[in-house]
Amino acid sequence: MAKRLLICYAHPDDESFGSGAMIAKYVAEGVEVYYLCATDGDRGTIPTEMANLYPSVRELRLAELECAARVLGFKQVFALGYKDSGMMNSEHNADPACLWYQYQHCPQDVVRRVVEVMRRVRPHVVLTFNKYGGYGHPDHIAIQRATEQAFHLAGDAQYASSLSPWKPQKLYYGALPTSFLRFLLWMLRLRGKDPRKMGVNQDIDFQAVVDNAEPVHARVKIVGFLKAWDEASACHKSQGGGGTMARFPAWLRRLLYRHQGFTRVVPRPLSDAVDENDLFAGVIAD
Ligand SMILES: [Zn+2]
Repeated sequence: MAKRLLICYAHPDDESFGSGAMIAKYVAEGVEVYYLCATDGDRGTIPTEMANLYPSVRELRLAELECAARVLGFKQVFALGYKDSGMMNSEHNADPACLWYQYQHCPQDVVRRVVEVMRRVRPHVVLTFNKYGGYGHPDHIAIQRATEQAFHLAGDAQYASSLSPWKPQKLYYGALPTSFLRFLLWMLRLRGKDPRKMGVNQDIDFQAVVDNAEPVHARVKIVGFLKAWDEASACHKSQGGGGTMARFPAWLRRLLYRHQGFTRVVPRPLSDAVDENDLFAGVIAD
C-alpha cells in the first residue's frame, strides 16, 4: 500500500514556499501527498497589474494553488475555504468568516473539518506549522492548533462522524533553519534594522521567529528537488514567486538547501537530537 502524507497549512503558497522540494521528493518516491489548505489567501496583497486577471484575489490565489498542485503532484487538495485573517491584530481578524475568528469562537468546528479530512485521506504522517505558526501569522497558528487536536481525535472511536476513525502514526512541525536565521538576524542588526519590525508592513517579529524555533529531529535530503521547488513557487506569482532565494547561485542553494529539518511531535523523541532522515521512518503502511 502507498504511504500517505497530509500537509495542513493555511494559505495557497505555504505548501510551495515552505515545503516544495520535500513534497516533490516524496511524490517522486511514490508517496501520496495531500494538501489541506485552510484559507483562500484572499487577504494577500497582489501586484496592481494582476488585479484584473481574475474576478477576485481569492480566485487568483486558488488558480495559483492549482498550478502548484500540478507541478508538485499532490494526490488531492482540500481547500477548506476560510477567509484569510490577515496579520495578527489587523482589522481582518474580526471578520467572522476568517479562520482566526472561527478558531477563537468555535474551535471544535474547525477541528472537526480537519478530522474529516484525516479520516478521508487516512495519512500515516501529518505535517503542520510549529506553535508560533512559523512567523506568527494567525492563520498558521490556528491551523497548527486545529491539526494537532485533530491528529489526536481522528483515531478516537468515541469522536462521532460518518467516517471511520483513522489514527495517523506521526506528527511533525516544519522546522526552521535556525543557524541561517541567526546569521540573518546578525546581518539585520549590523545594517541597523529592527528585526522585530520586518516585512512589507513591518508586522513580522523576526526575533520571535528565531526564539520560537523548535528542535530538529528529522533531516530530510531535498537537494535533488530544488528545481521542482522553484517551479511550484513560481506558480504563486502574485506572492513574489518564491522571492530572492531562487536567484541565489545554484552552488549556494545546493549548500543551503541540502536538507530540510522537521520537529517530531508524535511519537515524542527521547532527546532533542536528529535521529531520522525520513518522515516515514518506522511507519507501517497498510
Ligand atoms: Zn501562510
